[in-house]
Amino acid sequence: MREKSPTWIAAAMIALGSMLPAAATAQTAFPAPIETSIAQALPRMLAWRRDFHQNPELSYEEVRTARIVARHLRSLRLDEVRTGVAQTGVVGVLRGGRPGPVIALRADMDALPVTEEVDLPFASRVRGTYNGQPVGIMHACGHDTHVAILMAAASVLAARREDLAGTIIFVFQPSEEGAPAGGLGGARRMLAENLFGDLAPEAIFGLHAWPGPSGTVTISPGPFMAGADQLTIIVNGRQTHGAQPHRGIDPVVVSAQIISALQTIPSRQMDAVRSPVIVTIGSIHGGVRYNIIPDRVELQGTIRYLNPDTREDLYARIRRTAEQIAASAGATVEVSIQNNAIPVVNPPEPTARAGAALARALGAENVLSDQPNMVAEDFAFFQQAVPGVFFYYGVNPPGVSPAEAAPNHSPRFFVHEPAMETALRAMLAVALERVGGAGASGQP
Ligand SMILES: [Zn+2]
Ligand SMILES: [Zn+2]
Repeated sequence: MREKSPTWIAAAMIALGSMLPAAATAQTAFPAPIETSIAQALPRMLAWRRDFHQNPELSYEEVRTARIVARHLRSLRLDEVRTGVAQTGVVGVLRGGRPGPVIALRADMDALPVTEEVDLPFASRVRGTYNGQPVGIMHACGHDTHVAILMAAASVLAARREDLAGTIIFVFQPSEEGAPAGGLGGARRMLAENLFGDLAPEAIFGLHAWPGPSGTVTISPGPFMAGADQLTIIVNGRQTHGAQPHRGIDPVVVSAQIISALQTIPSRQMDAVRSPVIVTIGSIHGGVRYNIIPDRVELQGTIRYLNPDTREDLYARIRRTAEQIAASAGATVEVSIQNNAIPVVNPPEPTARAGAALARALGAENVLSDQPNMVAEDFAFFQQAVPGVFFYYGVNPPGVSPAEAAPNHSPRFFVHEPAMETALRAMLAVALERVGGAGASGQP
């Protein structure tokens, strides 16, 4: 995920609590046996998180993380533990003692090529290679916390297995942060490998660490996060002397025109309200010397959109713009668009159910809503297969506003660890609302 304007987050956050009856605003403890299990799980959750944080692994390299997850799930005597799903993914199945629905809970496991700058005793010193370049590796998106939270949730739920009315699938997903060139990201690959087998979940839930107040979660129906596609444009000209441009075709000038013209697609061609779009060119490569006009320039960028219905139209406009500008100069272009993530859209009914469960468990004043944003999450592909609800949990320390907090993917991204208890309770609340049966869902 990438950041949005933290100032805007603060302005847009509205407490759902103001819309709920006053009686629902108090936080409700889970039944005593579950509270006991939570208390036992909390120190282990923090220890796991710190260990993962200190030992981050890039996408599809989550070998150590997956081994620890699988060992833990086996120690809980789950009914099924599958490893190697989508290369490094782990899936556990817990069947409750009573019949009921099937649900899935998901955590993503991968870290990023970011060099950590946070002064922590368990800061990452790990280095690796990304795209052929030496890089630091850091859990700069908080996926270390997601894994630890879901492991702790599995502990709590497995301890109550006899009381559970239904089945829970724990999905530990590799490679959320971006598909390899020409390949699939973790969510799509898990689904392609028949993730759910003969189980048909009625719902899937996922959460994400996010710059917001600790102790809160943020959940909204409808469009929640953007679709994200990777754009590559290769501009082919003809190499010539920098003093004799008329003897060749200059792909640098053509690239400049294309870059500028692409910005007119969101601002002049798409409906600003119904089809918000971002086209960002993040990398330009061409040429080797100041007085040689090169043969070729390569542009790379990202496309973000909220409305899936206008995606094909958007692609066509991008292609048309690049091709016709190139043609006007006698150059040619190769445009390729790799689809990495579709928009995260929370369906209204399951989202309302989850929101109500969160309000009961956390106190309605701690359940916020927000406008959609243009970052992306491949959880969206699970939502294509199963009704799915995605929400954020706030990770800012007390007194640090979203505007001051380092965003996701920053080398200074920081998780206030007590927030993880809120996230654990949130995950348990949405799960137990489905499979808790009477008396186990935290309802008075
Ligand atoms: Zn991320
Ligand atoms: Zn993420």
